[in-house]
Amino acid sequence: MNEQIERQQLVQQLVERGITDARVLDAMSRVPRERFVPPELRDQAYDDCALPIGEGQTISQPYMVALMTQELALEGTETVLEIGTGSGYQGAILAELCRHVVTIERLAPLSEAARRLFDELGYTNITCRVGDGSLGWDAEAPYDRIMVTAGAPDIPAELYRQLRMGGRLVIPIGSARHEMLSVVDKTETGPRVVEVCDCTFVPLIGAGGWHEDPRRGPEE
Ligand code: SAM
Repeated sequence: MNEQIERQQLVQQLVERGITDARVLDAMSRVPRERFVPPELRDQAYDDCALPIGEGQTISQPYMVALMTQELALEGTETVLEIGTGSGYQGAILAELCRHVVTIERLAPLSEAARRLFDELGYTNITCRVGDGSLGWDAEAPYDRIMVTAGAPDIPAELYRQLRMGGRLVIPIGSARHEMLSVVDKTETGPRVVEVCDCTFVPLIGAGGWHEDPRRGPEE
C-alpha cells in the first residue's frame, strides 16, 4: 500500500484513540516513518507499535509519540530539548512543530544515522548531540520544553534546572518495569506533576537516570 495512504490511516487511528491537537496530527501525516525504521521492517512502519532500530533500542509507538508531543503543547516558537534521539522520528515530528530542536543520544551510531536522515529529509532546525542527556545540554539552555523518550527513576535534576520558568518537561517516570508518562511544569513554587498514563520505555541510562540497564537484573 502507498505510504501516504498508510500515514492517513495511522492518523485516523490516532484520532480514534483521542489525539486532538490538529498540528500534531498534521505533522504525523507528513513525516515518513518508513524512513526511520530498518529496511527489513518497512512494511510495519505504520503499525501502531514500537519497533527495534538496532543497538538494543526502539523507535517509539506512534500513539506514544503523538501523545507526548501533544502534551508538550507546542505553538511553533519554542526551543525543545529531546533526550534519546534513537531513530530520529520523534525529533522530526518536533522539528515540524517548533523553532529549534536539540536532540541528545548516548549511542553515537544512532545519533549519526539520525543526523544523516535529517539532512536527507531537509531538516535545518535540528541539532544532534552525543552524550549523557540525563544531564541535559547546558550550552543551549534554558529550554522552553524538554521531552525524555527513555524511562527515568525520577525527574532528572539537571533537566528541571535547564527548563525555563513556565516551561514543561514530558518524561516517563517509574520503576524498571512500570512507568508513568508524567508532565512536569516548572512553576515559581516548584514542579507541578500530572501523571497521564502507564507506559513502557527503554531505560534512561546516565548520571541523572539509571546507572546501568535496570532490566538486566540477576533474575533474567
Ligand atoms: N525518540 C526515539 C525515536 O523517535 O526513535 C526513541 C528513543 S528510544 C525509545 C530511547 C533512546 O534513548 C535510545 O536510543 C537510547 O539509547 C537513548 N538513551 C538512553 N539513555 C540516554 C541518555 N542518558 N542520554 C541520551 N540518550 C539516552
